[in-house]
Amino acid sequence: MTQQFEKGVAPYTVRKNKNYILDEIKKIKTEISEDLFVLGHYYQQSDVLRFADAVGDSYLLARYAVSSRKPYLVFCGVHFMAESADLLNDDKQIVLLPDLNAGCAMADMAAPEDAEKMWAELKEIIPEKIIPITYINSSAAIKAFVGKNGGAVCTSANADKVFAWALEKGDKLIFLPDRYLGWNTALAYGIDPDLLVHWTPGRPLGANSADALRKAKIILWNAYCSVHRRFLPGDVIKIKESYPEIKIAAHLECRPDLIELSHLAGSTSAILKGIEASNHELWAVATEQHFVSAIQDTFPQKTILPLAGSGYECTTMSLINPDSLLATLQSIQSGQPKNIIRVEDSLREHALIALKRMMEISN
Ligand code: SF4
Repeated sequence: MTQQFEKGVAPYTVRKNKNYILDEIKKIKTEISEDLFVLGHYYQQSDVLRFADAVGDSYLLARYAVSSRKPYLVFCGVHFMAESADLLNDDKQIVLLPDLNAGCAMADMAAPEDAEKMWAELKEIIPEKIIPITYINSSAAIKAFVGKNGGAVCTSANADKVFAWALEKGDKLIFLPDRYLGWNTALAYGIDPDLLVHWTPGRPLGANSADALRKAKIILWNAYCSVHRRFLPGDVIKIKESYPEIKIAAHLECRPDLIELSHLAGSTSAILKGIEASNHELWAVATEQHFVSAIQDTFPQKTILPLAGSGYECTTMSLINPDSLLATLQSIQSGQPKNIIRVEDSLREHALIALKRMMEISN
């Protein structure tokens, strides 16, 4: 039976890149190195990451972006990451994304006009103080919405700290856009699942009753990452039939019923550190497969398997490849940089407030 895949996810494919493209990237990168800083997300293919000056998850890359003073930042990741780098850097620095179609399926599930509608509807029925939080995997417009309304950004590495901050500051919390990261973080914080509700955009009161919203402590936007949602509890049962001793590591964007079955749950950085620190040699990992393969390369003495099949890749992350990276570097060298990411002036102030709040909270 052929498997159906929704937008943003596909079975993992190993790509063979042309040597002359890789040689050309190396040559140009050396020639313009004075002016260039290349950032690479963990979910990129190894033939892209080999040219990165810094590799990490969204949070680490945001920090690297702040510290780099080079005039050109080439972001090998997706659109919202390049936007964050643009917001966090001074006006003279130029951020480029090698392929402008490299968006994020989850970020696309949260339109700013729907968030404004939610805010207006909630304000009509809830007198208490509500703090909005957005996962960094969201557009600059959603970050601006959150910053304007007293909230903050978080990543999967610091969501627990940002939750604690928000619950101290307000009576209720709205979490956008990842329902699973929100749910998993709330449960780890000790919040009763009966106090969590999902807000479905486009439906009156997000498809809830006014009473349910008044009772709720956390209101979770109903969106998800199509890559991480593919991993199911049945995959754990299946892999344990072949490897009874195997341990499971899962990203916090995975479904809560999968997180429950995992020995290690966290951000990409936390998964990497957890596997390194563990004496256990055999792991199945539920996250984007380029990263799972990179963990295997980092710890060759261990056996690191995808939790399901040959693993899944994020199709928009995969749009960044040696060809698009080379074209971007050539454009910088020719003095006509292309694929510049520049957040609209009307959004900058509030989006930056939300990002800086996260930096302060997690410091
Ligand atoms: S892996 Fe998921 S959350 Fe990350 S960029 Fe792809 S769709 Fe977005």
